[in-house]
Amino acid sequence: MTSTVFWGSPRQARLEAKETLPAKLDLILDRLHLRDRVKGETVAIKMHTGNNIGYSTVHPVFVRKIVQAVKEGGGKPFVTDVNWDVAGAEERGYSIETLGCPVYPAAGLDEKYYYTHTHPFKNIREWKIAGLIQDATFLVNLAHVKGHPSCSAGAAFKNLALGCMIGETRRAMHDTGHYDRYWFPEKCPDAATRERIVESCPHGAIVEDKEHPGEMHLHIEPCNQCGRCLQVAPPGSLKIDSVNFSAFQEACAISTSLTLSTFSPGKAIHISLATHMTPVCDCFGFTSMPILPDAGIFGSDDIVAIEQAVLDMTARTPLIEENVPTSLEVHTRTGHPLAWLHGPLKDPYLITQYGEQLDLGSRQYELVDVLPVEKIERAPIGYISAHG
Ligand code: SF4
Repeated sequence: MTSTVFWGSPRQARLEAKETLPAKLDLILDRLHLRDRVKGETVAIKMHTGNNIGYSTVHPVFVRKIVQAVKEGGGKPFVTDVNWDVAGAEERGYSIETLGCPVYPAAGLDEKYYYTHTHPFKNIREWKIAGLIQDATFLVNLAHVKGHPSCSAGAAFKNLALGCMIGETRRAMHDTGHYDRYWFPEKCPDAATRERIVESCPHGAIVEDKEHPGEMHLHIEPCNQCGRCLQVAPPGSLKIDSVNFSAFQEACAISTSLTLSTFSPGKAIHISLATHMTPVCDCFGFTSMPILPDAGIFGSDDIVAIEQAVLDMTARTPLIEENVPTSLEVHTRTGHPLAWLHGPLKDPYLITQYGEQLDLGSRQYELVDVLPVEKIERAPIGYISAHG
């Protein structure tokens, strides 16, 4: 099966507003027939509202356009995110006044409103979906594309996978990387050697477990799999293994699948905005320099296809290495450019493979440019009026 992904390029031919990304979002919403699909629906617009002084999340101009389209179609929209990001969202421009609809914490102020779904996976048995997400009858998954320390990229999957679960489940998902053993203490009984392993890591990613003497703890997020620790560790004592790094992405696919299963077929669309892509997630509460060129705006009914299209498009250009914060290290230049930053075992394409295995969609897609630059007739550059 081949799915359709609508795309608005960040490029423009003329200096006209109608060729820019918010206008192309309108074209994508038309092609997805959003207005025709939301009559009488309670529409959750799930986005990442960011944190603290971050300013690279989806700009209110885009959100408001979706809100307006939902209202014009007779739907009842609300914007939603996890409680700690919604608290203070107005400081980043997200309020009922700017967006035209309320902004709610998805599981309530204290994350006590949720539904429990049982699905055993590694350390997780119960997944707790935010109440307002499950109560909604239509979902607009509005994602900002960026880097992520756990899986290299955060986009449509991660927006739902983490953002629709309560904190207890989010924490358990991050812990899935520790489920499969990577440290074998019997092979390294010497405390001085363990200390040398810790010192070998320039990223502080491997530490002694304070509560369990002799055990080592690997922080998955800062580990870029450089392998320095393996050169110090006695043979067989430490594994830097794909199973510990892929677990988070598989958990994200399962989480997304559970959330989408609460919506009837055809009751969800996915929009991904690939602009100002930073090295890490919007929850870090700040905005770094962009580490990839803007890649445009994407829309689809198929979450696997849109993720694949976003990854393919952002893989066309190399990482902007001069914009990478100096505490991060690029030690490999193979695979997706975001994996150059976070390590080869955090291959962002894994999520699309897991998603396809869970029947969430297809990695085969047709990309439809909603306003091809090449088809716009060239025109002389005239006087540009600020009020024009
Ligand atoms: S692989 Fe590199 S980054 Fe990861 S724990 Fe070992 S030394 Fe640290």
